[in-house]
Amino acid sequence: MSLASNIQELYSQKLLELLTQIGQIANKQGLKAYVVGGFVRDLLLEKANFDIDIMVEGDALPFATAVGQELNAECKLVERFHTAHIYYQNLVIDFSSARKEYYPRPGALPEVSFSTMQDDLFRRDFTINAMALSISPDKAFELIDLFNGEQDLNSGIIKILHARSFLDDPTRLYRALRFADRFNFIIEPKTEMQFEKALKLSYPSSLSTKRIAAEIDKCFQEKRPLALLTKYQNTGLLTYYHKSFVEYARPDFKFSLVPATSTRLRSKFPEISESAVFWSLLLSNIPLEEAKPLLNNSGLSHAVSSQVLNAIGEWQNLLSKLIIANNKIDIYNSMKNSCPESLALLYLKNKNKDVENKLTLYINELAVIKPSITGKDLIEIGIEPGPQIREIFDKIIEKKLEGSELNRKDELDLARTISNI
Ligand code: ATP
Repeated sequence: MSLASNIQELYSQKLLELLTQIGQIANKQGLKAYVVGGFVRDLLLEKANFDIDIMVEGDALPFATAVGQELNAECKLVERFHTAHIYYQNLVIDFSSARKEYYPRPGALPEVSFSTMQDDLFRRDFTINAMALSISPDKAFELIDLFNGEQDLNSGIIKILHARSFLDDPTRLYRALRFADRFNFIIEPKTEMQFEKALKLSYPSSLSTKRIAAEIDKCFQEKRPLALLTKYQNTGLLTYYHKSFVEYARPDFKFSLVPATSTRLRSKFPEISESAVFWSLLLSNIPLEEAKPLLNNSGLSHAVSSQVLNAIGEWQNLLSKLIIANNKIDIYNSMKNSCPESLALLYLKNKNKDVENKLTLYINELAVIKPSITGKDLIEIGIEPGPQIREIFDKIIEKKLEGSELNRKDELDLARTISNI
């Protein structure tokens, strides 16, 4: 049965045509192409998913290059993995070669070789993620479901494809809980037995910190990160990231407040990173001297790592300063150089009402106080570029914090007085 009309209804005629065109390009090269993974699962669940993964039986590189040319779209080849990404309109389409995987040792990244669609589906994690949608012209939009994924999807079941699955790749333990939580599915009894065995025999100890961190990062992108993190903690899966997250310890309920806190701060600090706030809160529960190397090994982007490092390094210092600050100028000066992630972390960690009020005052009112004039205005009235400009700005802000309502002219007059011109 063709799922063409499902794509048309859930997405658009345009997407249907795009996938048809990609299938035709493959056909011209004598290749069979499929859409695989989450897109197919979510299509059956009638949930839009714009992560489009195309798998081709053969080398994906010349194929993706041809698609890029025909669509006149940017194409990035990743030679090492024989994968490619095409950036077309606002879509990223990933291309991979059908492959077979061999795990030289548990938890290691697998050795791969080109293979068939069947082998490629067999290397996948769960039946619901191991379906393919043919886009070859002769079998356009036919579902290929070798492991009864559709049935498991309808029954709400997470099921591995073979008994060695968790041993080969223990990240699937984290993934099983993540998908079960996301879709409110249960883990099928035999899979559950393998899951328990994997925990008992400590399979995740073969994983690198980076691979576990990637799973935790995905957990932060779920709708209910606290619920999932609690499951990671209760099953002991979080202990493999750091020993302090012992089984059944109470997780920090503040995780559920991260999205709202980040959104609130975003209106004043548009650059705030929610992901960095999550990581800061997680790492703030670990002694700083251990959190730093752990962060370095977690494979987060450079930007997120440095935001986290700032936040976990400075929030306690900010807290001490706010406790003793007793006017708007003190509050402003204590906070003015801190990054928004530190403010968010401080907000989440703090238990003192007086500090909370000062922080709210800073975020809502003080942080946005700025001079109306610019450095250029000061240079135009004859002030030399240099430290005096900073001094003038500080004075203007101080006056505003004290309640003076200064307009541009008042600010320029103040600048002239300070610099004696
Ligand atoms: P999401 O909606 O979270 O993006 P997804 O299923 O698209 O879900 P990805 O992590 O993008 O998840 O993976 C794409 C596909 O690759 C999966 O559907 C699955 O078939 C396969 N896959 C990903 N990770 C693994 C793994 N560790 N072991 C086996 N197969 C995997």
